[in-house]
Amino acid sequence: MSRPTFAIIDSGAFVANYRYAKSLAPGARALAVVKANAYGHGAVRLARALGDEADAFGVACSEEAVELREAGIGNPILVLEGAFSADEVDLAARLRLDLTVHSERQLEWLLAARPAHAIDTWIKIDTGMHRLGFAPEDAAGVYRRLQASANVGGITLMSHFARADETDVPATAQQLGRFLHASGGIVAPRSLANSAAVLAWPDSHADWIRPGIMLYGSSPLDGGANHDAPLRPVMRLESQLIAIHQLAAGESIGYGGRFTCAAPTRVGVVAIGYADGYPRHAPDGTPVAVGGRLTRLIGRVSMDMITVDLTALPDAQIGDTVQLWGDRVQAADVARHCDTIAYELFTRISRRVHFIYR
Ligand SMILES: *Cc1c(COP(=O)(O)O)cnc(C)c1O
Repeated sequence: MSRPTFAIIDSGAFVANYRYAKSLAPGARALAVVKANAYGHGAVRLARALGDEADAFGVACSEEAVELREAGIGNPILVLEGAFSADEVDLAARLRLDLTVHSERQLEWLLAARPAHAIDTWIKIDTGMHRLGFAPEDAAGVYRRLQASANVGGITLMSHFARADETDVPATAQQLGRFLHASGGIVAPRSLANSAAVLAWPDSHADWIRPGIMLYGSSPLDGGANHDAPLRPVMRLESQLIAIHQLAAGESIGYGGRFTCAAPTRVGVVAIGYADGYPRHAPDGTPVAVGGRLTRLIGRVSMDMITVDLTALPDAQIGDTVQLWGDRVQAADVARHCDTIAYELFTRISRRVHFIYR
């Protein structure tokens, strides 16, 4: 028997969430974003689960694309940050990867290369995120230079939203307006929508949606409210109670004595800690579920353990399953308590956690 700390991955939920994303944008194709090892869930396993059904996959860098190709994934793959050096253009051609082109430097590498095949290219236009991309007024010129090159196959125009998760600010509509203006005279497919825009900004769906976090069952909207979206959590992070103690009022728990019992308190010790990826800065009150029933974290998170309040769960026993997030506890809710986002929680799960695929 090994340490009972598991990430149980529901591949069927991933497929269902992909279908749901597509149902929201019926005219569009969908690039399933599986960068960062599918947000910590396991890119090869989830890409295989979608199989031919995925119109394309999105990864951050060519290393992530190589992993998918070596596992036999044949779908189109877009490298979202594009090439980091000139030789990655040849690699992209050999592996039939699509490349983002966001800078003059990447454009020159692409035009100067002698690739074995023409490369499908996504021009990134900076409409307000101010991270990567060409200025809107340069988009048409970049398009013409790419179109004139035999190195370049299909061209798609894309942009990325900075604030699509905030449904009450004008930033997304402004970005969309700038994008439409910049791409006005160009006949090419268009792509803007991340998960938040798939869920909340139908005007932005265009030809390709690019859902990420929603495929893992977590809504990015307004701090994580699920907005009735029938998203199914893909990861269940679980461990077990490995000790139980009855403490008297006035006693404190764990490092720093952060939590002091105001009344007699039944405390459960759970075999998961920050070295597994559970956030060390989780405050008292962060939700957990013991045997399916909700309770709260009390005391500081240790490297290998956390402590939870069992006072209202007198029949909880050593060996009971504790869910840190999944179907009983939303990752977005844990994230809100920890002043972060579900994306960070998922991507920080460490290799000490046993992954089980269903
Ligand atoms: C990561 C990423 C996405 C997916 O974003 P989510 O918020 O996870 O849906 C889409 N497009 C680009 C360019 C990205 O880098």
